Amino acid sequence: MRIRFQAAALAACCLLVISACGEKPAAPGDTAAPPPVSSSDGTNSTGSGTGTGSGTPGGEPAKPAGPTGGGSGTTPTTTVPAPGGASKPGSGTTKPDAGKTAVQVVAKPNDVAVLVNKTYKLPDNYKPDDLVEPDIPFIFKEKSDKRLMRKEAAGALEKLVAAAEKDGISLAGVSGYRSQATQKTLFDNYVKKDGEEAARKYSAVPGHSEHQTGLAMDISGSDGKCAASDCFAGTKEAKWLADHAAEHGFIIRYPKGKEDVTGYQYEPWHLRYVGTKAAKEIAEKGVTLEEYTQNAVPVSK
Ligand SMILES: [Zn+2]
Repeated sequence: MRIRFQAAALAACCLLVISACGEKPAAPGDTAAPPPVSSSDGTNSTGSGTGTGSGTPGGEPAKPAGPTGGGSGTTPTTTVPAPGGASKPGSGTTKPDAGKTAVQVVAKPNDVAVLVNKTYKLPDNYKPDDLVEPDIPFIFKEKSDKRLMRKEAAGALEKLVAAAEKDGISLAGVSGYRSQATQKTLFDNYVKKDGEEAARKYSAVPGHSEHQTGLAMDISGSDGKCAASDCFAGTKEAKWLADHAAEHGFIIRYPKGKEDVTGYQYEPWHLRYVGTKAAKEIAEKGVTLEEYTQNAVPVSK
């Protein structure tokens, strides 16, 4: 039992790394797997995943999260009749196997508050036309699209990193913009390795990655340790981000305890730009972007 749990947790951990961010960064120290999920996510984070027994890494929170997405509010989609309750699994007016098939294309992919998740996808091959490289340190040296973000987000990220530096926290970029083609390459590799069904559970399907919006950046400490890994949770860098990201218009997009809403594991490193007003509201209310865009804020903490 114990051994099985550990094995499962370990597997979950490794897969977790590529969950929403979809790509395992080549970061120093990245190979040394951190202690499994344990710390970052009390519930063994992938509890959902391991719970289902046979490796369902990354869990399958997509279903409950399924058709809950926004649609109304700031990120309208083409056809979204039923913004279901965030915590109510896919019932509502959508089809029976809603979690998998009720995919909607977002109508305003350039909106800084756009909701992209397992339900809401970007238009095919969407690419923002204002990608720039923020002037911040990165944990890698090469030129790469991974350095890019949309202009407004890049400017905000520069301010965030400078503010952290003032507080004695050195941050660096790990992975920003990712084209649909790159995501497809990654995803196809996972499919080859594990089969499509499994791959869908731990990697964003092309068109569904937030990194394609140009509004997301994975962040680590400047030493690159724990980059996009569970062990980033609990670091002083992660704490600083949690405390201050909103001041600069960013949110921790996949918070702990909201896996069933976002469809993804807790990822303290994945910053998403939404603008200062939205970010502050989201942080103050302790909600997710899904909940925010639905204007449903049933949080009573
Ligand atoms: Zn990410």
